[in-house]
Amino acid sequence: MTDVLIAGAGPTGLLLAAELALAGVRVTVLERRSGPGLPRPVGLQPRTAELLELRGLNPADQQVDGPSGHFAGLPVALDHSVWQTRHPRVLNRTQDDVEAMLATHALALGAVIERGHEVTAVDVDADGVTIHRSPGVRVAEPPARGEAPNDTDGLRARWLVACDGAHSTVRRLLGVPFPGRTETSVATLAHIRLAAASALVPARAAHFSQVTRQVGGYWSMLTPLGDGGHRFVFGSTTRQPGRDAPVSDTEVTEALTALYGAETQLGEVYGASRFNDATRQLEQYRHGRVLFAGDAAHIHPPLGGQGLNLGVQDAMNLGWKLAATVRGTAPSGLLDTYHAERHPAAERVLRHTAAQRVFTAPDRGENVEALREIVIDLMRLPDANRYFSGLLSGLGLEYPGARRVPDLDLTTAAGRTRLSALLHGGRGVLLDLGDHSTPVGFTGQVDHVRAATADPGYRGRLLLVRPDGYAVDPAELGRWFG
Ligand SMILES: Cc1cc2nc3c(=O)[nH]c(=O)nc-3n(C[C@H](O)[C@H](O)[C@H](O)COP(=O)(O)OP(=O)(O)OC[C@H]3O[C@@H](n4cnc5c(N)ncnc54)[C@H](O)[C@@H]3O)c2cc1C
Repeated sequence: MTDVLIAGAGPTGLLLAAELALAGVRVTVLERRSGPGLPRPVGLQPRTAELLELRGLNPADQQVDGPSGHFAGLPVALDHSVWQTRHPRVLNRTQDDVEAMLATHALALGAVIERGHEVTAVDVDADGVTIHRSPGVRVAEPPARGEAPNDTDGLRARWLVACDGAHSTVRRLLGVPFPGRTETSVATLAHIRLAAASALVPARAAHFSQVTRQVGGYWSMLTPLGDGGHRFVFGSTTRQPGRDAPVSDTEVTEALTALYGAETQLGEVYGASRFNDATRQLEQYRHGRVLFAGDAAHIHPPLGGQGLNLGVQDAMNLGWKLAATVRGTAPSGLLDTYHAERHPAAERVLRHTAAQRVFTAPDRGENVEALREIVIDLMRLPDANRYFSGLLSGLGLEYPGARRVPDLDLTTAAGRTRLSALLHGGRGVLLDLGDHSTPVGFTGQVDHVRAATADPGYRGRLLLVRPDGYAVDPAELGRWFG
């Protein structure tokens, strides 16, 4: 029996697997696909880049010219630098590439990833879960801790985490409701090469507002990619394709002509998919021994580049808590703080993506135009810009009693370092930046580091930093670490 089974090797499942393996938990990921994921461009928000850096992963920007953060495509740049971050830009990557980076990381830590296996049945009892899955290929063995799965009786684990995306099979099999708003429209994402381009085609994309367009019932975002291709996202108020209908060259050509004129000609489509604007969220992220994370727990329209980031942040929040629960070291109630912290975080994203829809709708009337102008003016005010930046980048997120700490420059007895480097091992850190006495109840549950910092906001302080980079009251050591 393994400790934890994860359904789905998207970004959420892969990072969660890595987090559990880092903490010494036996974890197996089952993935339906046998090949790589979509080469869809995604923006990695500043807080996500910070969290990945806590584990020594430093995703570089692959498309230096790509658009950075925005709210509803409004033409005001979000200044993330006010949050004291080393990652003030949204990093432009592709999803398959992010997944490849996370899979390499998880495998190196000893996670098992089985591709080509679809979870088809789930049985939950008081002691654990049993998964049945379609036959597939076992492509990765852990170095030492692996156990051969027993196909006849199903795979057994103490816990199951459903990271199997928006159409989660686990959610369906367990009959867990996914309440929210049904889709009202289907949009198309196509990666294209142009044979000819009119002057209306954006040559560069410094900000999202430069790549959006609305004409004759069509709306679009046409973003130049580093490889000479374009990402073409479009929808129409009058033409609604089926969610699973294949994307034809004819419809892409018609949309290009309507939006960018007849001089703009399609060369080729080299990848296309559909997405819709449904907004839903689970009422509970934990159902006994089954937990939900990422798109399996919440979905929303892809406005402002949020979904993958939410999933990564879910995984960072859940990983150390579930690992401590599996090891039997978790204080009472620790695992339930996953739902308590992450449900409101996603709820907030669902609300602001709903607000963004007001400004991105192609049929917005005069009243919305008037409101749009006022919001643009507001966003130019430093405090308001900071608010929007905190909302979209994830840097403004706090949990009750837990605050983000910037990646401080530190000097320890061993030399110069950064706070992020102290967290690479996935353990909590009691960081003494003054000369404090050790808190009552400290028995080595976290690493105890004495250091100096020149940062006036932190000099002299005693910080208790959780493995996911949030600082809590050192007097509450027992509440978080037992
Ligand atoms: C057009 C578009 C643009 C986007 N842009 C951004 C962006 O810029 N920034 C951003 O943060 N997010 C963006 N997103 C959202 C982002 O892609 C998703 O939120 C993200 O993929 C969620 O990750 P996940 O791991 O939770 O789920 P998924 O990526 O959906 O992964 C789920 C995995 O589970 C597997 N699976 C499903 N069922 C089973 C089963 N029964 N058994 C085994 N495996 C199974 C699937 O094959 C898949 O690999 C965008 C989405 C769209 C549609």
